[in-house]
Amino acid sequence: MKKVLLLGSTGSIGVNSLNVIREYPDIFSVSVLTANNNIDILKKQIEEFHPQTVVVVDKEKAEELKRSLKINCNIFSGKEALCQVAANSDYNILLGAVVGFSGLAPTIEAIKRGKRIALANKETLVVAGEFIMNLIKEFNAELLPIDSEHSAIYQCLMGEKKEQVEKLIITASGGPFLNTDQNKFSSITVKEALNHPNWSMGNKITIDSATMMNKGLEVIEARWLFGFLPKKLEVLVHPQSIIHSMVQFIDGSIKAQLGFPDMRLPIQFALTYPNRIENKMERTNMATLKELTFFEPDLIKYKCLKLAYQVLDKGGITPCVLNAANEIAVSRFLKEDIKFSDIPNFVDNALNKFKNIIKPDIETIFEYDRLTRDYVLSL
Ligand code: NDP
Ligand code: MG
Repeated sequence: MKKVLLLGSTGSIGVNSLNVIREYPDIFSVSVLTANNNIDILKKQIEEFHPQTVVVVDKEKAEELKRSLKINCNIFSGKEALCQVAANSDYNILLGAVVGFSGLAPTIEAIKRGKRIALANKETLVVAGEFIMNLIKEFNAELLPIDSEHSAIYQCLMGEKKEQVEKLIITASGGPFLNTDQNKFSSITVKEALNHPNWSMGNKITIDSATMMNKGLEVIEARWLFGFLPKKLEVLVHPQSIIHSMVQFIDGSIKAQLGFPDMRLPIQFALTYPNRIENKMERTNMATLKELTFFEPDLIKYKCLKLAYQVLDKGGITPCVLNAANEIAVSRFLKEDIKFSDIPNFVDNALNKFKNIIKPDIETIFEYDRLTRDYVLSL
């Protein structure tokens, strides 16, 4: 029986992860669930999955849950509690499904205990990829990606030699504004930006998909996860989201991973690897696929992707600054405080504000995350 600590159980990936776990009661059990403040969903999850411990980051909401919960369960609060459960509780797999920088600290704790990390929280690898990958080696932990593109690449690389890879081809749906003229970007509403054509996801990643910052974050994620230099990482727009990504080898052969766009598949793979287990998820019927199309991304229209490429080349503290600036800009856009077209400009502004620091230690990464947030809030 594998015990799962699910960070961010109330979100889109969290709920999908429990949908997978529910199907295999003989293989998986839930030992810890965490939420930021959504105790209504969390309460139902506790009643169904009976975790020993839960964390609610918001202290008042944690108290409210304590008052209303009828069954036995330890309830902790505060963001430090996320690290404490990762460091102390009884589990085999940490499933990282929180959004943003908040995933970094608890993931570090789990790696230090040599756990399997099933990681959806790409921001952890964006801000501290080199540090995290070294830590994984040092503590003999295991990192399995949940991001569908990275799961695809992971599967394409199985049985292959790294030095025989020519490039990774990361596919992108292109989001809802693929056919929208760039001069309309300043009037895009929150509702329009949250309307993703292929995937139903949390708000932050849905906006990141609309600006294509998501693809930029994914290129940085791939750089560290698979250890390839930036020149071997290519983005290809593929609006149907059937090919989840590809690997091209030095003999010109290309391997791709295909499947129905459903996050439960990469979640299941990260939980059951190296095994595959049968499921009832929808199959892609190749005979009914009308067309699969591909084209290069427009880096002028999608400035966020261009900024991410620049950061990939510069390295140092710049990915951390890019990520923090983007998190704040996206949350300000979601509150209708800034325009959609302001998002890349705020990120660019923050990248110009801070001088790069090469090989930052983890304390510097935490410091620059905070400094950048304060700066972008003040713009
Ligand atoms: P959601 O916004 O749907 O869920 C986020 C989860 O994190 C919720 O449980 C939320 O709790 C919790 N949370 C939010 N803020 C904090 C905080 N400050 N501290 C602790 N917990 C917090 O996000 P998604 O599920 O869409 O995405 C999660 C991660 O997975 C992201 O990094 C995203 O990029 C990545 N990912 C997502 C995909 C998807 O299909 N959704 C696909 C590939 C990657 P509460 O509900 O209480 O607010
Ligand atoms: Mg993805």
